[in-house]
Amino acid sequence: MSLSTTQILKQRVALAQLIDKWVQENPDRLTADLTTKIQPSAPEQEDAIEPKQVIIVALRTRPFLENETATGGQPLSGVHARGTNMVVHVPASKWSGATVNHKTFEGDYSFGPESSSERIYRSLVLEPELLNTALGGGVSCILAYGQTGSGKTYTISSLEEMIVQDIFRAAKSYAESHFPNASNSPGDVYTFGLSLYEILGNNVSDLLDRDEVGDGATVDVAEDKFGNIRVSAKITPVSESKELADMIASAAGHRRTSATLRNEMSSRSHCVLTITIKNTLVPSAEPGRLVLVDLAGSERAADRSAHTKDRMDEARLINTSLMTLKDCVRGRALVEAERSKKGEGKTGFQHIPYRSSKLTLALKPVFDVEATRNCKTVVIAHVSPHLADASHSNNTLTYVSPFRVTMTSQTNDSVQSPSHWTNDEFRDWVGKTSTKIDPAKLAPFESGKQMCELEETVFIQRCLGSQKDGLVGTDKALTAKGAKAFYDKLWGLIFAAKQSTRPEIKLEYNPPSVWSNFQVRDYVEKELPAVDIEKFCPSMAANPRRGRDFVWDMGEAEFIILATSSAKEGETVSVEDAKVLHTKMWKLENDTWNAERKAVLTQRQDENVGMTIDDELLEKLLDHPAVYGTGSEAAAQKDEAIRVIQATRIEREAKLQRKREMLEQRTEEN
Ligand code: ADP
Ligand code: MG
Repeated sequence: MSLSTTQILKQRVALAQLIDKWVQENPDRLTADLTTKIQPSAPEQEDAIEPKQVIIVALRTRPFLENETATGGQPLSGVHARGTNMVVHVPASKWSGATVNHKTFEGDYSFGPESSSERIYRSLVLEPELLNTALGGGVSCILAYGQTGSGKTYTISSLEEMIVQDIFRAAKSYAESHFPNASNSPGDVYTFGLSLYEILGNNVSDLLDRDEVGDGATVDVAEDKFGNIRVSAKITPVSESKELADMIASAAGHRRTSATLRNEMSSRSHCVLTITIKNTLVPSAEPGRLVLVDLAGSERAADRSAHTKDRMDEARLINTSLMTLKDCVRGRALVEAERSKKGEGKTGFQHIPYRSSKLTLALKPVFDVEATRNCKTVVIAHVSPHLADASHSNNTLTYVSPFRVTMTSQTNDSVQSPSHWTNDEFRDWVGKTSTKIDPAKLAPFESGKQMCELEETVFIQRCLGSQKDGLVGTDKALTAKGAKAFYDKLWGLIFAAKQSTRPEIKLEYNPPSVWSNFQVRDYVEKELPAVDIEKFCPSMAANPRRGRDFVWDMGEAEFIILATSSAKEGETVSVEDAKVLHTKMWKLENDTWNAERKAVLTQRQDENVGMTIDDELLEKLLDHPAVYGTGSEAAAQKDEAIRVIQATRIEREAKLQRKREMLEQRTEEN
């Protein structure tokens, strides 16, 4: 049984001891965990089938405030952030006295009371590239969830402040790198608009469009027959940081003063701020959106103390909207998890009930699995630091935990894939399979996964350099052909393991995001014969673009500009045609995922799996004597491998550097 606030006060000493004991046993290793989380590695990897993470879950608790510590000394802590976890200490009573249940919740990030707003901005806005997603024509959304007083408004307003500072500069540098040939100067490629409205029960009112007495105009939220959502909130154009900041501040100020008690009012309404970003180079492209939502207090959901009927109805509506929101986010998360399992999922069609509340209807673009653009959502669950709020905190974290759908792959024990082997197991297999290769030379320390990730040529080269003593130079020596056959055997195993875990092979799993450069060329040549494919998708470039560059990384506007400017001589590619093709590719992407969701990896993707390797590891390997033989051919091959690695790294560094510069500029200005 959980304890009431008065019981907590009575049992204060005993509870404090229990929590102290926990803290002693669970020291804060925050900094170590943080650095691993901040390293921006995954998105830069070359892995063609690595899924994008579209829902990020962050957990945050605030510090105790001055007025909370003034009387009666330091209050008892009800939560602690540890690594990417948040632990809630829920007091309970047992026959023997008070006790504490320590419940652990995992997020992608967990921020303790000392976490600065800058760090949160870096982790939740810059790292997931929310600004760039919106600049590319996609939808980025931040949702602040939690009990009243837990810090939602604080987080949202500090993120707003920093976004406002960065967005115009980010737009300029995005335009510089993505539209270098634009006739507009980079600062004029985008136009911005702000809308800000509040959802109170079923009433939506505009915070930017007010009458003389200060009442906001009523906003309609409706879905047209094409499934597009129209929100009639006024969109005010903005062109620089200060203007945007002032506008937000004045609307927020209004929200404050019009309510008798600020928190009273804001705890009952959802506040939605949208920055609309239009690319002027392609006026017909859908604008990108950056949406920040300060949700109604979650404690309302359980509020039984509402006095009047109106309040009870209102509490019910808030309850419904928050529960629907949960189903929508969860639904989207499940869809993404299935996508990333490449069709292994058996969950079936996910119903996303966005029509069940005004809030989710307005936010439909965020959950839409049919969308033909990128969407990213960050959910920040806020919990109060107080022990007396622990059971609320427990509810809050329980609410968001289903958003993190862990991708459990269903491995079948009967056929184990070499990519799950340890170094010993891999060597074992080499020993049994080849009479010529010395297992210890071939895999001095690598796991099965690392070996499987080696590129074919590198692998073969390594085999040739790893022959048992005394073979090289004799007629028993391993030939390149033999090494290739050995490599194929390994891949045969990987493929067999894949097949055995997917008994129902029906659809071909082949969405555009996993297409190779050549598949893109084939497709586009057929669909848009007027396009000069050498211009649109050159295959001889240093880093030939692949499918995912066109659907995931390139916004609609950029796609259209590239297509229209890649016409064959004497022909034209119209904006409309380019737009249709872009939508078609995205539809194909969605259909592959959405159809029956029983798609399987084809042989082609399986080949792609082997195309990446961590470059540090590769460098280590290259220096290993077993890797390359001697002689000029081996040396040349090694040089070539190093060149490729370095080129990739330089590109990756440049990307990172751009990000860093943006951060530094920010810091300087503050
Ligand atoms: P909510 O919007 O969830 O009701 P608020 O954002 O209004 O909560 O926060 C409640 C109080 O705590 C405010 O006085 C706010 O300034 C303060 N606060 C919240 N988060 C922090 C933080 N991370 N650091 C310092 N003060 C905070
Ligand atoms: Mg608030």
